[in-house]
Amino acid sequence: MDAVNLLGFDLDGLAAYCEELGEKRFRATQLFRWIHQKGASDFAQMSDLAKSLRDKLATRARITPLPIISEHVSADGTVKWLFDVGAGNAVEAVFIPEDDRGTLCVSSQAGCAVGCRFCSTGHQGFSRNLDTGEIVAQLWYAEHSLRKRFNTAERVISNVVMMGMGEPLQNYSALVPALRTMLDDHGYGLSRRRVTVSTSGVVPMIDRLREDVPVALAVSLHAPNNPLRDQLVPLNKKYPIAELLDACNRYLEAAPRDFITFEYCMLDGVNDSPEQALELVKLLKGRVPCKLNLIPFNPFPASGLKRSSNERVRAFGDVLLQAGIVTTIRKTRGDDIDAACGQLAGEVQDRTRAHVRMVRAPVVVVKGAGAG
Ligand code: SAH
Ligand code: SF4
Repeated sequence: MDAVNLLGFDLDGLAAYCEELGEKRFRATQLFRWIHQKGASDFAQMSDLAKSLRDKLATRARITPLPIISEHVSADGTVKWLFDVGAGNAVEAVFIPEDDRGTLCVSSQAGCAVGCRFCSTGHQGFSRNLDTGEIVAQLWYAEHSLRKRFNTAERVISNVVMMGMGEPLQNYSALVPALRTMLDDHGYGLSRRRVTVSTSGVVPMIDRLREDVPVALAVSLHAPNNPLRDQLVPLNKKYPIAELLDACNRYLEAAPRDFITFEYCMLDGVNDSPEQALELVKLLKGRVPCKLNLIPFNPFPASGLKRSSNERVRAFGDVLLQAGIVTTIRKTRGDDIDAACGQLAGEVQDRTRAHVRMVRAPVVVVKGAGAG
């Protein structure tokens, strides 16, 4: 019998597991705190648990980190880890330090089946979902290794963004317990406002997230109309913009913040004109309370796309700002170690023939097509 990985349980799950072993819930809480707050991986360390329980756990359970393939530290302090998830697949997590916070960007899948044109993960195709333990292991390892590195007992990671490899809402059942562990006061104790799920727009799962664990939501929009978004984010054909915006408004009823963040990756000559900025204003203004986050495209050769110039990004942002939409331009961090958005290469044994699907058909720019 395979030992159970305890990183895969949220507190309720661990309590149920402990009950099977004949243990009370408060034992599960103690165990959960050892694992997530103290970073323990050895039951022998857990001095306030009865020896009999520690022995029982040692024979049936484990706390399994992901094997590390590499760790890179950028000149700006960004740290990128590449984790081995078996069968030739690897996923990445990135730590981004800022003055007032420490953010960890976490992966949810080995690869991604959505296949966005501008995303290197999308180009690699899809291999498999990570399980809850593999999602949490990224945070567990990053938090506790950074504490050691900075020689502190204080929390280092204050924010988590599900913006690494994969579409988190296409791995919903593994995502939810992972989010609960992040939020739990006995786990990482992160505020709902500081945990962000980023999605390319899986409408039914946005509704479920609202019911189950309403954390902050970022939606990858990237285009002001359906014909263009269909090309950039193929999932748009299934859940077009109007349905997506409706789901955003429903989400806001339960969300910890009173706005949705829309991400918009700036692609030279594709979605970055002042006219498209106006179209975006028309689409969003008065429709969804939101902020816009403009992401300078991080190029990779297979995309055949180029980054918009800084001037063009600024001009685009100015149109939004003038219309009263709060707009930020994302700083690119960790460029020197390929840790920026959409550069997370990882390694994926593609099972979806993405490379065949994505054979270069040029993106056709459709002007003033309306969002439908
Ligand atoms: N699948 C989810 C989360 C992971 S992608 C989603 O799409 O939202 C996280 C963010 O990085 C998304 O906004 C995505 O559009 C953006 N991104 C992907 N490739 C990029 C690239 N090459 N340059 C800049 N941003 C990119
Ligand atoms: Fe998947 Fe997000 Fe990349 Fe699109 S941008 S392919 S949804 S990871």
